[in-house]
Order: sequence, then structure tokens, then C-alpha cells
Amino acid sequence: MSGLNLTFDTSLQYLKGVGPKLGQILSSKGLKTVEDLITYYPRAYEDRRAARLISSLKEGDIVSMTAQIGKVSAIPLGRSHRKMFDVQLRDSSGSINCKFFRVPYRGYFERFTPGQQVRVVGRVINYRNRLEFHHPELSVFNPDEETVISDQLIPIYREIEGVTSTKIAKLIEQVLESVHWAPEVFPETLMNSMNLISKKKALMSIHKPPHEKFEEFLQGKSEAHRRLIFEEFFWLELFLAAQKKGYQKFKAPPLKTRHTLFEPAEQSLPFELTAGQKATLQDILKDFESGHLMNRLLQGDVGSGKTIVAMLASLVAIENGGQVVLMAPTEILAEQHLQTAQKFFGGSGLRMETLTGSLKTKDKKLILDRLASGDIDLLIGTHAVIEAPVKFKNLVFAIIDEQHRFGVEQRATLKGKGKAVHTLIMTATPIPRTLALTVYGDLEVSTIRERPKDRLPIQTRVIYPNKRPQAYDFLNEQLKKGRQAYIIYPLVEESEKIDLQDAMTGFHEVKSRFKEFRVGLLHGRLKGDEKDELMLSFKRHEIDILVSTTVVEVGVDVPNANIIIIEHAERFGLSQLHQLRGRVGRGLHKSSCIMILGKAVSAEAKERTSFLESTNDGFKISEFDLEIRGPGEFLGSRQSGLAGFKLANLVRDSELLNQARDAAFGIFSQDSQLKALENQGLKMELLKTRGPTALAGVG
Ligand code: ADP
Ligand code: MG
Repeated sequence: MSGLNLTFDTSLQYLKGVGPKLGQILSSKGLKTVEDLITYYPRAYEDRRAARLISSLKEGDIVSMTAQIGKVSAIPLGRSHRKMFDVQLRDSSGSINCKFFRVPYRGYFERFTPGQQVRVVGRVINYRNRLEFHHPELSVFNPDEETVISDQLIPIYREIEGVTSTKIAKLIEQVLESVHWAPEVFPETLMNSMNLISKKKALMSIHKPPHEKFEEFLQGKSEAHRRLIFEEFFWLELFLAAQKKGYQKFKAPPLKTRHTLFEPAEQSLPFELTAGQKATLQDILKDFESGHLMNRLLQGDVGSGKTIVAMLASLVAIENGGQVVLMAPTEILAEQHLQTAQKFFGGSGLRMETLTGSLKTKDKKLILDRLASGDIDLLIGTHAVIEAPVKFKNLVFAIIDEQHRFGVEQRATLKGKGKAVHTLIMTATPIPRTLALTVYGDLEVSTIRERPKDRLPIQTRVIYPNKRPQAYDFLNEQLKKGRQAYIIYPLVEESEKIDLQDAMTGFHEVKSRFKEFRVGLLHGRLKGDEKDELMLSFKRHEIDILVSTTVVEVGVDVPNANIIIIEHAERFGLSQLHQLRGRVGRGLHKSSCIMILGKAVSAEAKERTSFLESTNDGFKISEFDLEIRGPGEFLGSRQSGLAGFKLANLVRDSELLNQARDAAFGIFSQDSQLKALENQGLKMELLKTRGPTALAGVG
């Protein structure tokens, strides 16, 4: 079927050599059109100019080479029932091990027998002074399938369920030869100012590197890489710029700071606001007065005092005759926020209520009525506040706590409950700057970096299990002094059962070791209200030690708890450990966080966790975490559009990201409605990929 008129939109099933079965496999992995295939980039190149020997490997090399299978072994990991697989590879020059911490698919390791010739594709890493591959791609070597050209860079594609790299390469070659190339969408001004090569040229050469540029391609630093990575960032940033432009267009009646509620409340606070709190408050009040709608993110480390800032701002909204809603992810947090509001503003005549799922129908009806008639000023609740029957008389300000727990749609629904609703979303997971630019690129951001100054630092120690008795002795002393403690067990996704077992065993051990104290168990199988009930009794000090399998609610404030012990600390991410640690250090008593590593953990895990011994700064920790684990952890519900990076890497390519952002925002500042002729391609592309509302606020 050559001579077929292939365009970027053509379905892959029209390609020569793609039958229904292959078509099905490809499409199940998201490869449906010619464009999908053409942007299925090589994950590495094999340098055929010289055969690679194991002895020549260096740390950091991305290689594709052939070798022989040596031994295949399964090694148990601690007491978790999980296994690590180790596949040894050999050639005439030496040997190297491939480690797998999860099984790629069932039967994967059974495919290999000692002596068999395989192809390995992966990055060489240095682990405890030994070179290894972690999760490389291994495939049985088939000489008939190999291309024979010897002086080339061969693109290596990620295998798709048995569809080999060679097969994929052939399909791509077919497409490159016959596709009808669409005209360049980037405006010439952008191409020139950024010094970019054309998309066509970039796509052609990424799959077929030109001879004289081999080294650049091997390092992933070619002009083609630069163009394609820039483009990935650019589309996202252009979309965010359009969103932001849209927000800015919305008018809102100015809310002026008056002296009835806000000022007296601010003056009667029992503490002085930190510099970061003051600055954030100023940001918000300025937005309120601006005549435009506010869309602001407040990021601040755990315990930095975000709530009080949001509440003070609420008073301004209320003294202007508006209503305010604060949405929290759980009942217990909603309850806690109400207590805070009562404590600080109880005397001001403010009318406040909580609305949660567990409310009786009659009480709920009463609240809804009062809300609709404007008899409630501040509503605090869970996602119950976004349900359809909830109507406000005049909602002007919405606050969302721990935003990563809510989806974009939920936020939009909440905003829809008023004509012009200013929004403040709060997060305690500080986000590194590079990521903030992408994840929250459409929002204004305020940051509280410091903690209130009267806080005692939390002592952090990382220990091995043999020191657990000493840790327990220390815990015992503290409990005797009337303090409380958390003991956390990790949640391993693969097996909820094993987790529960781990925590159950732990729970019984703790119970028998601390007979004279009250021990509670919080686990994932409990219903929402059972969890809340347990947390509340911990808060009321009816429980001394809370053993928990799930992550204790972010944001929960139990000042009397001053010890947290985290078992299998190596299984948590750094940011997560930092969040957990933030459950203590909230009161007047000196607090400690003890992280216990599993039995067979690596030096790397030890090193990673000890980073937490050295710092309490959530931002530093998240930067470090991003570097070692990639962005997945931070994205939460805002994943869309970010997961889509094919070549770009937020950490490695952060400079290009900044450039793409400047370029995208620059285009809107010069041509605010994308009217210029040369920007029409951009407009079309945004509408095509992001849907008809992508440009709703522009134009
Ligand atoms: P987070 O930012 O984690 O949500 P909170 O808003 O829960 O933190 O605040 C933690 C605690 O610190 C609360 O008990 C709050 O009353 C208190 N707090 C807030 N700001 C200050 C301050 N400037 N000085 C002293 N304590 C403060
Ligand atoms: Mg909070």
C-alpha cells in the first residue's frame, strides 16, 4: 500500500505490515495515529561503530549491547515477601548485574536461560561502587531480525508487549518515507529567536541521526532533541498562559479592607505573624482590591501557619458583605478549622458552620437554608460543600485546603457557586520552582518559607532495627510524661494484605510492650467516619499511641503528640517522610522523629533518609526528592498535560522549560488575542489539543 497518502492523523492500521492484532497492541499503548508513532522517540541509540564490551561500560552510559545470560536469581527483600530479581550478564570481557525491584510482567524472568544471547538496553549506574543496570530492557537476541549496517547509530525503541524495537523501527521508517509533512506551526519569529530547527528536520533526524552528529545524539543533546523538548514545554506553557490570561479578564467588585472585622482580629492575635504570613496576606488583600478575580496558590511548609492567613483574609470578604467557604479534605480537618476560627474570631459575631457528609438531614437542611439566605458568613466543610443543593447568597471567596486532594473539576464546581469567586488554594507540599511553573503555571503563587519562631526544632534520627528497643525506651519515658506518639507503617501498593499484616503484627508488639498505655490502630480498611472517630479520640488524648498503616491525615494538629516513629522509612518518599514528621513539633514539648530502616536496605536508602536528619526545610527536601524520584509524586490531580512529556525531563531540561515559558507568555503579551497571522498555527493547535475552551478567556 505504498503511495498511500499518509498524514499525521492517519490511523496506524492503514500502514503496511500492521494487521488487526498489531494495531490492537499498538493502540492499547496509545499509538493510534501516524503522529503517535512518529513521536514514539528512541529511548537510546546503539552505536554500531564499535561493539560494546562489558569492560568498557562507564557510569551514566546509556547502552544497547548484546551479552550472554549468566545466573538468574530471586532475592527476598526484608520481611515484606517481596523479591528482587538479579540477572547476571556476561561477555568475553566481564560481567554485570541487572536488578529488578518489580517484575515487568508475569513470566518475564522465566524467559531467560543461562547461556542465552540477549540484548540489553539501559543506563549504567554505579551502586555501592559496582556498575549495574536497574530495570533495563532485556530481549532475546535474534540475529535474523538485526539490521546489518555496521557504521550506524541504530535507534532503540521501548518494546511494546513483544513488538520489538526493530519492528517499531521498520514501521517508523515506512512512515517517515511516505508521510505528508504538515507545514511548520511555530511562527518564524519564535524559530529565529530560539534558534530552533524545523519540526520536520527534528523528527527525521531523531529517528535517523546524521553521521556527523552522532556524539550529540548519543548524549541526547542534539538540535533535534532541543527542538522537540522545547516544543513539549511550549505547548503546555502556552496553554497555561492562555488560562491565566482568561482569569485576568474576569472582573470582580473590589473588596476593600475595612475596620469592622479584619483589623480588630489582626490586632488581637496572640502571636505576631511571620514575614511570610504578612506578605501573603498583603498579596491576597491586593488581589481583592484589584477589581480582578484572584487565583492564587499558597504554598507553605507543614506548620507554617497557612490557615490563619486564609481566615484573616476571609474577614475582609465578610466585612464587604460576602460569604466565604473553606473546603478541607476530611471531616476532622474541617472540624479543626472551625475550632481555629472559633478560637480566634469567636467574639466577633461571625456566623460560622460546618457542613460535612455525616450531618443529619434535618441539621443539614437548616444550614442550607441559612446559607441561601445569607445568614452564614463562613462555611467550613468537606467536599459536601460542592454538592448541588448547596447554594450561597453571595459567595465571594473560596479557600481550598490541601489542594492536591481535590480535582480540578471539584475546584471549578466550588467556584461556580458564586458570580465572582476569588480562590485561594493551599498546599503543604512545597513544590520546587521548576515544577511550580508547570503545575501551577496559570496561578499566582505566594509562599511562606519560615515557621513561627517559637517552634522547637524536631530532632530526627535514622536507625536500624537493632536500635528499636532504645527507641521504645525513649518513647516510654515520653509517654510517662503524658505525651502521645504516632507509629507509622508504610503502605505498599502491590499488597494491601501484607501491609495490614505488618501493621497488625506491629500493633500487637506495641500493645504488649506498652501495656499500661492505650494503643489505637488506624488502617486503610476503616471507613471514613471510623477513621475520623479514631483521630478525634487521639486528639482528645483517649489514646496514647496511634499505630497507623495509612498516612496520618495531612494537616492534623495534635500538639501533645511529640514523637513519631516511622517503620520501613526507606519505602517512603522524602517529601512524604517530611509531611509525616510534620505531625509532631506542633506544641511546647520537644519533638522527635525516629525513622527505622528495614533490615536489608541499601546504603543509598540510608543516605537518602539521612538527608532528613540534616534539614527541616521542606523546599530543600522537595528539590532533592524531585531530583531522585522525578516529578510523578508532586503532580497529584494536576497530572493532565504533564504526564505527556515524551522527551522532556523536568529536572534535566529546566533551563529549556524556563525559556519555553518566557516565549509562551511573551507571545500573549505581544498579541493578547492571538490575532497575528503568524500565530494562527498556535491558536489552531491549542484548540485541537486542549479543546474548544482552551482559549475561552482570550479573544
Ligand atoms: P499549616 O500551614 O500546616 O496548615 P496551621 O495553619 O495548621 O499550619 O498552623 C499551625 C499552628 O501554628 C496553629 O496552631 C496556628 O495557630 C499556629 N500559628 C500560626 N501562625 C503562627 C504564628 N505567626 N506564630 C505562632 N503560632 C502560629
Ligand atoms: Mg493546614
